[in-house]
Amino acid sequence: MKKVGVLGAGQLGRMLALAGYPLELDFHFYDTSGSPSVGLGRVTCDPSADLNNEKLSAFLSDVDVVTYEFEHLPLALTQYIEKKATLYPPSKSIEVCQNRALEKALFTKLGIPTPNYHIINSLEALKAAVEDLGCPVVTKTTTEGYDGKGQFVIKSPEQCNLAWQSIGLTDKGPRELIVESFVNFKRELSIIAVRSINDEMKVYPLTENDHHEGILRYSFAPAEQVSTETAEQANTYIKELMHELGHVGILTLELFETEIGLVANEMAPRVHNSGHWTIEGSVCSQFENHLRAITGMPLGSTDAIRPTCMINIISEKGDIPSIMALPYTHIHLYGKDERKGRKLGHITVQADSTEELKWRIKNIASFLPGSPELD
Ligand code: AMP
Repeated sequence: MKKVGVLGAGQLGRMLALAGYPLELDFHFYDTSGSPSVGLGRVTCDPSADLNNEKLSAFLSDVDVVTYEFEHLPLALTQYIEKKATLYPPSKSIEVCQNRALEKALFTKLGIPTPNYHIINSLEALKAAVEDLGCPVVTKTTTEGYDGKGQFVIKSPEQCNLAWQSIGLTDKGPRELIVESFVNFKRELSIIAVRSINDEMKVYPLTENDHHEGILRYSFAPAEQVSTETAEQANTYIKELMHELGHVGILTLELFETEIGLVANEMAPRVHNSGHWTIEGSVCSQFENHLRAITGMPLGSTDAIRPTCMINIISEKGDIPSIMALPYTHIHLYGKDERKGRKLGHITVQADSTEELKWRIKNIASFLPGSPELD
């Protein structure tokens, strides 16, 4: 039985383990936060972040391959692990995906369209970038931002001071920011793909994502009304990215669909919230395919079975028994306590047609407090 070491012990690790046990994989989680929610497999809690400690070496000698469920890891840690053990996806993928400046440079190098941008680290440079790009612009910290945190939309040049004070200036000094042109997108899509150790690649159908207040609420797959050209573009982009990074495992690319085609926003070198629909909605889920890839097994089919929607359960769990009683509905709870803005679980719901799916989603939303209306 192969043992997979997972850096991080949250819900993504939990869903990896749930997919991995039927493949005779065993799991050991390594978590620095001290609050694991995974609930499956052995957990080493090590808040020290020290590379030369016994807990880390015991973890590494206990596992056959190391992966991660979170890309905001210290690069020194992943590079150290890569020297001592097998790490998939490689450190290179983490290095690029945890830094928006490197990510954008890679998109540009590969000819993948992305918003015009400037990298800045002073108020003066922010003002110059805003003047060059024209308002509105989106400013983001180049590292550590997620779910809309560390972002500020500047609608007029007078807001530069406020934006700089909100996210640029910290107790430890100025932070590096990226200033991007605001994209008037039609909708947000993501493409999820998997690459094996032998360069075999498979791509899931495009997923449409609906965010509210920076947090993903609904994912629909396969996304409707996707032209062959758009699907091919997305496939080409993600395959080029995986190849260039030497990526092994799942890679997710978030995209804006615009009047003039797809525009890349950001990437994640891991299983992704917008791919949770694949557990029931595809032949082989993102979690299983990630594990197959990193342990050298053949990849499974990424085909969708029928229209599926993933609904995130945020802040409050709502009336779970009533939701469970609805047909074609699956509940996934992550073992977390309720807290504002926290992802506590998700629901997948399926139907034979889009109309039926929308009707079912509305029904589910009526049992979930704070659910945003579907557009
Ligand atoms: P991110 O953290 O980059 O995924 O951004 C969070 C959300 O902010 C995205 O899902 C978009 O809805 C929005 N957003 C980010 N960048 C831009 C942009 N350049 N133009 C318009 N909206 C954006």
